Amino acid sequence: METQAHHHNEDRVPVLKAAIQAKCPRCRKGDMFANSTYSLSGQQMHKTCPHCGMTYEREPGYFYVAMFVSYAMNVAQMVTLAVGTYILTGSNSPWLYVAILLGSILVLSPFNYRYSRVVLLYWLTPGLHYRPELSHDHTPDNTTNNKLAQA
Ligand SMILES: [Zn+2]
Repeated sequence: METQAHHHNEDRVPVLKAAIQAKCPRCRKGDMFANSTYSLSGQQMHKTCPHCGMTYEREPGYFYVAMFVSYAMNVAQMVTLAVGTYILTGSNSPWLYVAILLGSILVLSPFNYRYSRVVLLYWLTPGLHYRPELSHDHTPDNTTNNKLAQA
């Protein structure tokens, strides 16, 4: 998959770890969000990576695509919950399902908001790849800019 594997192998951040922690898809060091998923002040996404400076919104309106990802995640979660509820309770009461699904939509929406963007940037954005050399702490600014121009 990634060809620079021999270089600084010990510094490489595994993709799932970086994605779960919502780190920048390019350097896997900087945070994508300024606060936690269930922060009371709502989620604040950084415009650019605090570590490597990558602009997260690849083009204007890019995160509209994330709504489709979020929708797909929602459908998968709802089907899983409905089936799980049926298996566990065997209930035929529509109100039980409505209550569980509505409650889950509320509880899961910050999660889906965050991870739809993570999924979009990690797996659905062609041309955006992990660059382990950018994850080092002492990257001179001019090198960063050259790499930005190539990205
Ligand atoms: Zn970065």
